[in-house]
Amino acid sequence: MVAIEPLLRQHSERFGAAEHAFQAPGRVNLIGEHTDYTGGLVMPAAIDFNTVAVVSPAQGSASVIRSVDFQKEFQFDASALPEKPKHDWTDYPAGVLWSLRQSGVVAPQFTMTLKGDVPLGAGLSSSASIEVAVAFAALALAGKSTPLTDVALACKKAENGFVGAQSGIMDQYIACCGVKDHALVIDTRDLSSRAVPLPADVRLVICNSMVKHSHAGGEYNQRRAEVEEGSNALRAANPAVRTERWELRDATLADLEKARTSMSENAFRRCRHIITENARVEEAAAALASGNLRRMGQLMAEAHASYRDDFAASCPEADLLVELAAAQPGVIGARLTGGGFGGCTVNLIEAAQAEAFREGIHAAYLGHAAIDADIYLCQAAAGASELAL
Ligand code: ADP
Ligand code: MG
Repeated sequence: MVAIEPLLRQHSERFGAAEHAFQAPGRVNLIGEHTDYTGGLVMPAAIDFNTVAVVSPAQGSASVIRSVDFQKEFQFDASALPEKPKHDWTDYPAGVLWSLRQSGVVAPQFTMTLKGDVPLGAGLSSSASIEVAVAFAALALAGKSTPLTDVALACKKAENGFVGAQSGIMDQYIACCGVKDHALVIDTRDLSSRAVPLPADVRLVICNSMVKHSHAGGEYNQRRAEVEEGSNALRAANPAVRTERWELRDATLADLEKARTSMSENAFRRCRHIITENARVEEAAAALASGNLRRMGQLMAEAHASYRDDFAASCPEADLLVELAAAQPGVIGARLTGGGFGGCTVNLIEAAQAEAFREGIHAAYLGHAAIDADIYLCQAAAGASELAL
């Protein structure tokens, strides 16, 4: 968690007294990968790593956003925002302002100081955390109160339409709506969710493979295109599902098998991952809720195999981390989390063994891959909030 006091000092030294401060967390997805843009189910938890936005209103025609992490400032006119991304960190706050403006929210000129401790580009959604923190700040400056799901949708629009990453709603939703000590089962079709308590004697341990991924383009968007190809073929093959509301969420494995010859092998496998993954999320929620941690661990292993083999979204380093985790003390389950192609594994670990696990997996990964991994012991945290000044 970013310490607020030093950040307030930095803001007031540069811009004068702060008026508001907001925080929004990163997240780790326990299960449900690439299901959130097909009306499917996901089960993330917000984590105790976050981004903080400190703001105050400004006079004149210039707004300034200062990134403490990048040691850079971005100056612009809040009433005439850039329409095009610059392909750097400024796209996230600019995209949020751009998106909010389309729903009639115009922030007055302001100054903002941003700082985060969510590792960047590690699959823990620093992007949603900065977006949601900026959105909360902009809404407060504009004097608007907005339902959390609308904040999440506005931030998703920023990421899709301005930054250019075709991510689903999961990251922004959990950054807005996370519940302390719980994971959230989110139905991405109707945007409802329910909180599932995480057992008090279980820790979330996140291992960073140190392999960087980038969502703005590349393989993530390619997978989305393959899923779309499969969905279109499924829709065309079955007249009964030719309705506006139909989504891949509604397809069964039998439907997919029937349509197999009308899609590429890649599209078939991507869709098979998504259909089986939705079922795993349901089962995982039930397993967690009833304290059946053994089943939860099996489902995480099955989800990893499906992500690796059918979705082809893993990488050798993540596979190695999952394999090495199985031999460590206190392991309940392990899998690659996030958009894929690198990033982090999520590990459910018995709390009493969390330190031993951290040391064991670090040494094993160093030994096998010669990579010095960052490892984070996390708690499930609450969603975005205003911080008392
Ligand atoms: P992830 O969401 O998995 O961390 P992304 O590639 O989606 O990875 O988003 C990472 C990008 O988000 C960073 O490269 C940076 O541009 C922006 N970002 C995230 N947090 C901050 C921050 N605290 N300050 C400035 N930019 C940030
Ligand atoms: Mg992201």
